[in-house]
Amino acid sequence: MTCIFCQIAVRRLPADILYEDDDLIVFKEVNPEAPIHLLIVSRVHIDTLNSLDEQSVGLMAKMVLVAKRIAEDLKTQSGYRLVINCGREAGQVVLHLHMHFMGGWRKK
Ligand code: AMP
Ligand code: ZN
Repeated sequence: MTCIFCQIAVRRLPADILYEDDDLIVFKEVNPEAPIHLLIVSRVHIDTLNSLDEQSVGLMAKMVLVAKRIAEDLKTQSGYRLVINCGREAGQVVLHLHMHFMGGWRKK
């Protein structure tokens, strides 16, 4: 298994994990670009958004709901940004589907 995020998902690599369930794992971005910068990552390996299909698209809804809950828990509802980079051209470095959660500029 060479994928970094797959290894984090099975705890073979360390990460600062804030949340996990059967489908998703959420941990702190190692190189944060916001006061709160988390990665919401699917447990199953999907390389990019381009590989989503009818069966896996539900993951996106779950990611957004988890993001909303995190914003509530961390009291950052006043402003947060969700980003998915798709493909190297857009800056995707880790080829395992994930959503960036950025916020905390001005905590509520
Ligand atoms: P992306 O550019 O959308 O592929 O984002 C991947 C992000 O994962 C980058 O911002 C990296 O800093 C971050 N990253 C890579 N390895 C780790 C790790 N082991 N723990 C936390 N974040 C990581
Ligand atoms: Zn993976």
